[in-house]
Amino acid sequence: MVASILLQGGTVLTHDEHDHVHAVKADLLIEGNLIKKVESGIKPSPGTQVVDCTDKIISPGFIDTHHHLWQTLLKGRHANHTLLEYFGPGYFDDPLGNFAASVHSPTDIFWGELGGALECLDVGTTTVVDHASVNISAEHSKAAIAATVSSGIRSIFGYCPIAPVENWKPFTLGQNPLAEWVMKTLEELGSKAPFGNGRVQLGLAFDGTYLPKEVLVNLFSKAKEAGVKIITTHYVRAAVPSQAQLKAIETLHSHGLLDSSILFSHGSNMDPDEAALLLKANSHVSVTPSTELQMGHGEPVAFQSKLGIQSHCSLGIDCHSNNSASIPSEMRLLLQSARGTYNQPFLDQGKVPASVYKSVEEAFNLGTINGARAIGMDDRIGSIAVGKLADLVVFDASSPSMVCGAQHDPVAAVVLHSSPGDVEMVVVDGVVRKLGGRLVAVDGAAGREVWDGGERGSREWGEVAKMLVGRREALQESLGGIDYEEAKAGVIRAFHVDGDNVVDSL
Ligand SMILES: [Zn+2]
Repeated sequence: MVASILLQGGTVLTHDEHDHVHAVKADLLIEGNLIKKVESGIKPSPGTQVVDCTDKIISPGFIDTHHHLWQTLLKGRHANHTLLEYFGPGYFDDPLGNFAASVHSPTDIFWGELGGALECLDVGTTTVVDHASVNISAEHSKAAIAATVSSGIRSIFGYCPIAPVENWKPFTLGQNPLAEWVMKTLEELGSKAPFGNGRVQLGLAFDGTYLPKEVLVNLFSKAKEAGVKIITTHYVRAAVPSQAQLKAIETLHSHGLLDSSILFSHGSNMDPDEAALLLKANSHVSVTPSTELQMGHGEPVAFQSKLGIQSHCSLGIDCHSNNSASIPSEMRLLLQSARGTYNQPFLDQGKVPASVYKSVEEAFNLGTINGARAIGMDDRIGSIAVGKLADLVVFDASSPSMVCGAQHDPVAAVVLHSSPGDVEMVVVDGVVRKLGGRLVAVDGAAGREVWDGGERGSREWGEVAKMLVGRREALQESLGGIDYEEAKAGVIRAFHVDGDNVVDSL
């Protein structure tokens, strides 16, 4: 018999054909992995799990379109970093940069990835586009896929050819991210994907848009042959001094590669011509307000009226090593920072704006239905409707932070008042992953067909946390042996950074 869950008496957030969100008092029946009914007075069949949702808001699961899920062991390191410092190790003086990936073992990656995916589920993210910059060996990428399968999250796993650190002293990077084994692994993963009953699909994450046309054409066509539907690439124009001239959207367009399969992360500082190309090709952008505002990427593009690309923008977390994985937090930060930017010129001219800029509904849509459109899955996820996949988040509408707000305007309550502590229940693909405010135990055996390493088994969150703390300590010891002065010079060389343009004042 197909498993069924009845969410009874909640306030269900549904989208109409114009993307307006309506709060409807209804029961919601899940059968298998699908939303079967949304209506009043549904009677449970024998065996149906009934969950009382009186005083609860039922929202579509959040969609995070850019995240490096493996980075859990690095959390807390980048709090005061610019983008260059984040790349590190230590462009300036904090020797704790992102090349630390290269000292992760496959087992470290497994646990880091699992921790990242579970943090997403805990805060109500049900689908993630994972820019998995861990391809130090095929085993590293496979460990990450296995962890993703174990966690229960829905994912586009962006297999990511990289140039890892080959040597710390002298500092050298692996020179060929597209070596034969890398392409063989892409083919192999393609032949096995999707993983986890279809939840984890294979994508491609690649940051070499500056490479010659024939390299990109060949790679993208190999990826598509392997079944890849989404290709994601970082695009932060001008934030690295050596890359000010690189225009990735224009470049992919001129190579004939810009289409609806392309998902840019950030898109910072694109110009209106590129925005027009993006819209015409139906490519999409993932905006990650926390890292973009902190690290100097530039103003987030989603609500910039001069670009007009809001319909093609969605939200991502980027680095949970730097900030929380909560998509509602990013909705809030984006909305309020865009309002601040909009308001200032009025004030500078001694006037006040007559109305507020953008709405909570527009912010909510970036983290739900727009995310689904970015990955071509809006017919299956991103909103609550009969026949769609059962990816849902249940909020406590009577918590100290939500109460009264949730009853007056549930969308405002989610965007402006909620915290991850208000997320009571999370369902992905019809399976409950959080209940009563607590993550359910993960099935460590899931994903073994992809990678069989690590100390696996069914684990409660507390045990996962202990494992993460232990591995973080071990990693810290390995990092302690690195010559950071040498590594710093190496990063500057690798990124062709013109030091004259890295300044503390203008
Ligand atoms: Zn990123």
